[in-house]
Amino acid sequence: MSENLDPFKISQEQLSDACEILGYGKEIYDALSVPERFIEVKITMKMDDGSLKTFRGFRSQYNSARGPMKGGIRWHPEESASLVKALSAWMTWKTAVVDIPLGGAKGGIICNPKGMSNRELETLARAFIRKLADFIGPNVDVPAPDVYTTPQIMAWMMDEYETIVRKHAPSVITGKPLPIGGSAGRSISTAKGGVFTIREAAKDIGLNLNGATVAVQGYGNAGSWSAKLLQNDFNCKIIAVSDSKGGIFNKDGINSFDAGQHKEKTRSVVGLEGTQPITNEELLELDVDILIPAALENVITAKNVNNVKCKILAEQANGPTTPDADKVLFDKGVLVIPDFLCNAGGVTVSYFEMVQGYYSYFWTEKEVFEALDRVMTNAYRSTVDHAKRYNTYNRMGAYSISVERVVNAMKLRGWL
Ligand code: GLU
Repeated sequence: MSENLDPFKISQEQLSDACEILGYGKEIYDALSVPERFIEVKITMKMDDGSLKTFRGFRSQYNSARGPMKGGIRWHPEESASLVKALSAWMTWKTAVVDIPLGGAKGGIICNPKGMSNRELETLARAFIRKLADFIGPNVDVPAPDVYTTPQIMAWMMDEYETIVRKHAPSVITGKPLPIGGSAGRSISTAKGGVFTIREAAKDIGLNLNGATVAVQGYGNAGSWSAKLLQNDFNCKIIAVSDSKGGIFNKDGINSFDAGQHKEKTRSVVGLEGTQPITNEELLELDVDILIPAALENVITAKNVNNVKCKILAEQANGPTTPDADKVLFDKGVLVIPDFLCNAGGVTVSYFEMVQGYYSYFWTEKEVFEALDRVMTNAYRSTVDHAKRYNTYNRMGAYSISVERVVNAMKLRGWL
């Protein structure tokens, strides 16, 4: 039988396993397995060349029992309703595992932002918010950046929302630029949070991070900062990195800052001096201490999992590993830091940004990262403890914490 790669079905399969572990029956599963609300919008706009183009966008509001819903907006040609629903479920479990008082949501527009001008990006951002304005708000649902959306796009979105409601409402969007209510540290927080969990995981398996080898798939915000922080703060040796155009390898180490500069200049890490080319598929199978998938979903599947050789799999991407692959990794003894734990640093600092926006008083980067370290370390520790308690793998350990928290909140509200 071929493997199921539909992201929403995968998220439901994971939820079903978690319900089984927690002893929840079908009624609870049914109450948790679909979004509270799913919004689909159409945007028709004029492009720079005078032509009209129509885009489809989505917002999936998965669960609001623990607080206002929260999650990013992705702009990608492969975006789909199923993916947005899955990502909104994972946001629900993400905010719950780190225990911040928020629910889960996710949005997306099917488009190719790399081929659009700044004016086109701004028009699309503002049009999307006009369609969504009735359904979002600082106490309702708070969007943020994700794949191919930037602080500048968040700034346009916030401005459009504030224009509609005719007052300042900075906490309607997070991941904003610093001068208009962004938080110190937000731009590198997904990677920073992931690195705190890698530090803890390394302690657990007795891995010395000094000189430990690392491969990173995806050199966007999360991937590039993971590489830079591991190199800079822990002296790890980054031996391979990649992006959508391909990868580079050097067994003696790649300077991740040079790779970043090369990508800025040429739009890809490929071709960095002193490196050999490597494909994205080969990168995942390298014999490394730490493997960081930081791009898109479904990259570690039943097909390649037997060739994965890392000791720690730190999932900075959302949904990089399929359920079939998960089971194999567990049997192989790979320490997996599951996505919605490993990449929760972004939403955690988004939450700090909301709080700072509410009382209009801003913290230093040091304060932000100290608070982030506490949150991530606690969540990592509880995840491994729960996995041990239920004799399961870490993803299910994390699920058992999150699902129980969400169910408790729903029960207290009288929803169950
Ligand atoms: N897009 C990020 C994520 O997947 C951040 C979400 C947020 O800050 O709301 O976790």
